Amino acid sequence: MATGSVFRRRRRKVCSFCHSKDGSIDYRKLNVLHHYIDTRARIKNRRRTGVCAKHQRVLSKAIKRAREMALLPYK
Ligand SMILES: [Zn+2]
Repeated sequence: MATGSVFRRRRRKVCSFCHSKDGSIDYRKLNVLHHYIDTRARIKNRRRTGVCAKHQRVLSKAIKRAREMALLPYK
């Protein structure tokens, strides 16, 4: 399965929120939040998304708030 360990793609994961100028996470930014939930509407693993701990915390709160506002599904 491993195809040449030398050329293994090791893309450095940078938190997209730290990276962007506008690093604010808003529960109304559904297009952003959708990126961080899977098809079962569960918050994606931080390892997958590469979001830093700080922003993951904010993000999960935003997603939960969006759920309360019925902007995102629970399941
Ligand atoms: Zn971050």
